[in-house]
Amino acid sequence: MEQLMYFKNTEYRIEDIHLFRDLDQENLALSHDIIKDCPVVKACKGQVVLDANSSGSRLFIVLHGALGITKLNEDNNHIENSITQYLPGECVGEISVLDEEIHSATISALSDSELLVIEADILWRLIDELNGVARNLLQLLSFRIRAANAQIRSRQKVGEFYRQLSMVDGLTGLHNRAWLNAQLPGLIENAHATGNALSIIMVDLDHFKRFNDEHGHLLGDDALQTAAKVLNAGLRPTDFAARYGGEEMMVILPGTAQKAAIGVAQRLCTKLSKTRVFLDNRKPLPHITGSFGVATLEPGMDSAQLMTAADTALYRAKDGGRNQVAL
Ligand code: GH3
Ligand code: MG
Ligand code: MG
Repeated sequence: MEQLMYFKNTEYRIEDIHLFRDLDQENLALSHDIIKDCPVVKACKGQVVLDANSSGSRLFIVLHGALGITKLNEDNNHIENSITQYLPGECVGEISVLDEEIHSATISALSDSELLVIEADILWRLIDELNGVARNLLQLLSFRIRAANAQIRSRQKVGEFYRQLSMVDGLTGLHNRAWLNAQLPGLIENAHATGNALSIIMVDLDHFKRFNDEHGHLLGDDALQTAAKVLNAGLRPTDFAARYGGEEMMVILPGTAQKAAIGVAQRLCTKLSKTRVFLDNRKPLPHITGSFGVATLEPGMDSAQLMTAADTALYRAKDGGRNQVAL
């Protein structure tokens, strides 16, 4: 870290410093007396004032200019990316002085700045001798805690957003395999615990390789999206549709026994076979069909066994000539 330059003749008003806010004249004079020999240093734009992970035993008060939290890029070069700015009158480094721990962030000068340096022993003397300074410091710490809490909450929200996003299939908008792996065991456990029925339908589009060969992959993607919409639109709010992978999709029907599940699969199968991939009448109208394998949860079955049962049923539907439902 580059040394900060000492700077002699800087004029400042002690009452402009937040740490001495609302002190009466007598206490201001006492404060002035305590800090009068504290040095003023100059930090050039971009220069690091507090280095993260190093310990600090001094407080910096901004007299002129501005400081900001600085992020490191992958090459450990500092990049300025500061939302939090410290402006004249504000201080940095107080937490490390109080708890004698390392700094949690790197702070550098956003513009050429002049800083009053208060060493730890001087700050403790101010706290011991001036209630007003202790009160101002407490207020500042409360503010920092609130700001940190707000940041944690907003990070949690962003984290949740990306978690949700990672559970959605980009092409169809259905839940994806990761979601399925995370959710199906819980749904099954719940069904076993409550004694409620649960069925799943494994869907595989028919001759989809041929569809791609004849119409191209882009139209193949459109067809997949269309099929996903058909599945999604035909379900109750408590049902789920997920893309298992490739042109295979899965429908989960909580609270649904075998007979009703066959009915749902039949309805979806018919709907899919009647759905056009394109609404544009000038184009040929390829259509798609699917094979549907239904499986219903039996006592003691886990998710792998249930999926195998649905897969076996699906192969029966393929063997039976496709565009049909099998058990
Ligand atoms: P079957 O009736 O026996 O299921 O025949 P199929 O041609 O559908 O089965 P196969 O497993 O041989 O081929 C699946 C095809 O699905 C091949 C692959 O290119 C296509 N496919 C898988 N995922 C996508 C996708 O995201 N977009 C497109 N356009 N095609 C896909
Ligand atoms: Mg397949
Ligand atoms: Mg297929």
